[in-house]
Amino acid sequence: MFSFDSLAVHAGRDGLKEQGVHAVPIDFSTTAPLPSVVEGGLAYEHLATGGAHLKDQSTVYQRLWNPTVARFEDGLAALESAPEAVAFATGMAALSAVLLAVVSTGKKHVVAVRPLYGGSDHLLAAGMLGTEVTFATVPQISSALRPDTGLVIVETPANPSLELVDIEALAAAADGVPLLVDNTFASPVLQQPLRHGAALVLHSATKFLGGHGDAMGGVVATSAEWAARLRAVRAVTGGILTPWPAYLLHRGLATLPIRVRAQQATASKVASALAGHGLVKRVLYPGLHEYDPLGLVGTQMSGPGSLMAFELSSPDHAQRIPSAVSLITHAVSLGGIDTLIQHPAGLTHRPVSGEARPSPNLLRLSVGLEGASDIVADLVQAIERTH
Ligand SMILES: *Cc1c(COP(=O)(O)O)cnc(C)c1O
Repeated sequence: MFSFDSLAVHAGRDGLKEQGVHAVPIDFSTTAPLPSVVEGGLAYEHLATGGAHLKDQSTVYQRLWNPTVARFEDGLAALESAPEAVAFATGMAALSAVLLAVVSTGKKHVVAVRPLYGGSDHLLAAGMLGTEVTFATVPQISSALRPDTGLVIVETPANPSLELVDIEALAAAADGVPLLVDNTFASPVLQQPLRHGAALVLHSATKFLGGHGDAMGGVVATSAEWAARLRAVRAVTGGILTPWPAYLLHRGLATLPIRVRAQQATASKVASALAGHGLVKRVLYPGLHEYDPLGLVGTQMSGPGSLMAFELSSPDHAQRIPSAVSLITHAVSLGGIDTLIQHPAGLTHRPVSGEARPSPNLLRLSVGLEGASDIVADLVQAIERTH
């Protein structure tokens, strides 16, 4: 078995030598030649009901199967130690497909651990896809379960507070109900939830996997059975990833380990600098001991990552800072090569209902690949100038 870093570079690149190429080819075909009505029909039925493409079979239509997308799926599955992965146009399309697959089994109740990404929280709270949600803390999971509970959802580290949840303990509490872990913040470099009892791992590939802020996607790594269910939903609802972003996201996997480790090393320095600044009330970063009471960094997660949040003493101060940075960009999203700052209560978590909305004094920082001292200097001047 190859190391994680070797898999990141090579997984999903099978057969290139036989094709006489070195880089992954991009197949833009929306349709594919059919050998005969009978064979074409069988291929269509196989793919539309969730089957994985068989060698020598027609791929029929891009909404059912695309070879460039499949390469990205193979690459990500290898990194999550998953049997399979299914890719979607966005992270929210991936979550939607999971919820529709759950509902189609007749179990419409979902138990979700807050905080979640604002969009996920909104989708669940609105019940837009026919699910009914109970928000629960980890100790409340067992009592929140019902006979029709089809899914438990958690994000760890959570967005935007960076709280960590013990996945093994949660999987045990879920008592056989499939557990979905949104692993967007950690990436498979730092955490592989299937090893800790999760049934499904979701990524907004838009973030760390692509890593350059120029491609959207979502992906779910899971068992062959779940993958087939998700492909069946994807085939009819049409949320499949398209070839060009699939190529970019797959390319992103090759540098994922070195990006994540470099960003993490810089983030630790930035977190210490912020924690030592008199105008910063609190830094929320799993790398700071007091912020990881369960000791999950070093066990469940191999490192604290490159996202953090920090609290100022007033909402006004917090809101002025994003407009006062210069090297750093005031923007939503995260996990890319450049440092981004945003105000969760006003932006990403705006749709979250009052009691679950993050503190208005909080800013979230996604640390990129710039020099640590430049990032710190930019933050310090912005914090001090706007005070
Ligand atoms: C961004 C994000 C999503 C949604 O992904 P999109 O690609 O924007 O649809 C879901 N979960 C988390 C943790 C995210 O950060």
